[in-house]
Amino acid sequence: MIYLDNAATTKMFEDAVDIYKNYACNFFYNPSAGYKQAIEVSKLLNEARQTIKNMLGVQNGDVIFTGGATESNNLAIKGSERNGKWEYVFSAGEHPSVYNCALALREQGATVHFVPLSANGEIDYGKLQEVLNPRTRLVSCILVSNETGAINDVQKIAALRDRLAPNALLHCDGVQALAKIDLKGIGHLFDLFTFSGHKIHGPKGVGGLYVKNKQSLKNIVYGGGQEFGKRSGTENVPAICALKYAIEKIDVEANFKKTTSLKNAFLQQIAGKRGVSYIDGKSPYILSLSFEGVNGETLMRALEDRVIISTGSACSSKSAGNRILQQIGLNPQRIKSSVRVSFNAYQTEEEVKRAAQIILQTYYEIWEKVK
Ligand code: PMP
Repeated sequence: MIYLDNAATTKMFEDAVDIYKNYACNFFYNPSAGYKQAIEVSKLLNEARQTIKNMLGVQNGDVIFTGGATESNNLAIKGSERNGKWEYVFSAGEHPSVYNCALALREQGATVHFVPLSANGEIDYGKLQEVLNPRTRLVSCILVSNETGAINDVQKIAALRDRLAPNALLHCDGVQALAKIDLKGIGHLFDLFTFSGHKIHGPKGVGGLYVKNKQSLKNIVYGGGQEFGKRSGTENVPAICALKYAIEKIDVEANFKKTTSLKNAFLQQIAGKRGVSYIDGKSPYILSLSFEGVNGETLMRALEDRVIISTGSACSSKSAGNRILQQIGLNPQRIKSSVRVSFNAYQTEEEVKRAAQIILQTYYEIWEKVK
């Protein structure tokens, strides 16, 4: 079976599991306790914060560990909310953990703008410009789309924010970006940056939020005051250590090169073939494809014992249609026939080529039957 749903989750590095076990069984002290063993554990957390900051290429700011990116996105958005006549700006290409927070803000009476996407899947920078103003409190824009692999131009967005909305915080959901694309040149632009462990061969149920200035963020849960008072609850130390290990093991540049060759090898087999279309997102990790005349779900289910693909983000697979593909102007038939293929850097070209051949052959078999 060839697994091509790495945007949904990845297999953990086996040595990261060993790290997890070590900190769960041998070095399990509560980092908030006062004895020396616990103090050592709290130092590990700080080292992990530094690892994230190194990936972002930043000196300043803090990292708040959370129970995953959904929580980080909630903290970023709800924690930025302020009373008064503030406005909140979101790209229309956000993951449900951002999008549904935005809807909740709107329901509470806040002014919320959704900025449409261009045909290439990126935010429409012109339309973004139109909604920014000095009352803007937050601009939230996904960095790499989990649906299409489109990469938003954060430099452009930050420049617009600086010029038109100087009071706004810039938040990016970086789940499909951390340890996948080089962030060192752009990390300083984020006021808030969300990441998750399980998309990069780390554990599930752990993630975090980088925050440039923690005074800008309110806490959304109340408790013992861990994580600078912004996220109470005992930290998941074994998972945080395993995540740190996974990040340090990843060679971002080498992996980017490798996945680029995987995506190209895959496309070589499938692009231009009868009935097949795809969106050319800039991330080599994610590819959105459609197969004319065949339902994406039918194809996914027909393939599942040989190749695992998805009909879009696992989080939104139960919702009707695909909000993001609709946004970029695909017609309902094409959306219905869309699937998402996503790679990891530890797969081989042979594997992905074989997967492409199996997908194509299965597609034509189904198409023949339903025609
Ligand atoms: N944002 C994006 C872009 C994602 O792809 C995901 C995972 N589907 C999430 C947020 C949610 O991450 P988690 O599973 O860690 O809550």
